[in-house]
Amino acid sequence: MTINYASCRRGALAALLMALLSVQAISQEREIKTAVLYAPKLIAEMKQLHSAALSSDYAYIQLAHLCNNIGPRLSGSSQAQQAVQYVAAEMRRLGLDVRLEKVMVPHWVRGSETAELVQFVGQAPNTTQKIVLTALGGSVETPAEGLTTEVVVVDSFDQLASLGREKVAGKIVLFNARFDKQMAAQGYALDAYRLAVAYRGAGPSAAARLGAVASLVRSVGGADYRLPHTGGFGYAGDAPRIPAAAVTTEDADLIAYLAAQGPVRLHLTLTPRTLPDTESYNVIADLKGSEHPEQVIIVSGHLDSWDLGTGALDDGAGVAIAMQTAQLIKRLGLRPKRTIRVIAWMNEENGLMGGRMYAESHKAEIANHIAAIESDLGAGHPVGFSAHINAKGFEMLQPIATMLESYGAGIIRQSQNAEGADISPLDAAGVPTLAPIQDHRTYFNYHHTAADTLDKIVPGELAENAALVAVLAYAIANLQEALPR
Ligand SMILES: [Zn+2]
Repeated sequence: MTINYASCRRGALAALLMALLSVQAISQEREIKTAVLYAPKLIAEMKQLHSAALSSDYAYIQLAHLCNNIGPRLSGSSQAQQAVQYVAAEMRRLGLDVRLEKVMVPHWVRGSETAELVQFVGQAPNTTQKIVLTALGGSVETPAEGLTTEVVVVDSFDQLASLGREKVAGKIVLFNARFDKQMAAQGYALDAYRLAVAYRGAGPSAAARLGAVASLVRSVGGADYRLPHTGGFGYAGDAPRIPAAAVTTEDADLIAYLAAQGPVRLHLTLTPRTLPDTESYNVIADLKGSEHPEQVIIVSGHLDSWDLGTGALDDGAGVAIAMQTAQLIKRLGLRPKRTIRVIAWMNEENGLMGGRMYAESHKAEIANHIAAIESDLGAGHPVGFSAHINAKGFEMLQPIATMLESYGAGIIRQSQNAEGADISPLDAAGVPTLAPIQDHRTYFNYHHTAADTLDKIVPGELAENAALVAVLAYAIANLQEALPR
């Protein structure tokens, strides 16, 4: 076989030329589309919003008030109610249409929580070893004087199953699965969290089915300062309700070490109480659209937090970012074509009742919900945003990413799942959901601990998030055509 190299080269050149022409055609087509969807005036306003956000401390001041003046905001608590009133008043002050939408929420109150090892190999006479732990939200109590029994350590549900009822009944199970810090350090902290949190969520009932009298989980988080991480879980209908707590990673290691040498007995006292469900609220604040007031873009975060820290990262930041969107648009005298609706959700942490209630009570207007944005992964530097949206909608969002490129926030990711727990019921009803892509490598070091406090927020990075979310919400509210379903 002979090869005509000259004609091959000509062919290659022609192909290259065609490719270049088609790239040029695509980019021209894109520019035309961008100009149709995003009028030059809109692009200018997006830039104006972005730079105004970067030089504003409004979000930080709001967050500081929520964390430092009001404090922890567990559903049903007096502080949660105070936070509802505060955000509503602040949004009214800005001139938004504000209403409170009622949500019935769990009202669980943490009691005392102590534990000590009372028997282990090598124990000095008349001593115990303190174990640092915290009750999981919703846990039932131990007897007032505590319970004392042997601890069984397992690394997985499979290992628990292999022990069987005979070796588990009457004992405390410790689920000792590790949070993968390497994964978190490489930017996959949420994946590390999802892997480990399965034991917090389903561990108590799995242990109870085999006759365990209490369930402990190795704290789901990446820090090493002997801080326990609380969190929610659900009792399954087919298992007895047993007390459940999270131990620090250090104490999980200690128990596992000693249990490998011989029997370890623990004295555990937890005295939480579950009170009747309480009336609380989602705060809904509308900045009415000038052309399509019935069409809504939600910007949101959840107002409730766990009770150990002050919920700065989780998720006071998200609420403050959403509040800033409204404040900036008002301050700059801009008027969105569609309604921008700020929502401070209630009860994300232990029930998701706010998000569920909203989707249910606004069922008839779901088609008018153009998009929902939620920030709920801290306030670290954002590199862009992710969207759970169809291909056409994704393409329509590209120019926003292009605009954000010069701020280092030009990444746009099409996700497979809902972006944000509170907006997941809307997502399930077909509403596109979006979130900033935040640096969350250290987020789970503090998440659900006493150390989730205001000092963990970098003001400049919080402002970057507020800038990104404001641009995103305003752009979507002003697109020539609504985002598709
Ligand atoms: Zn959260």
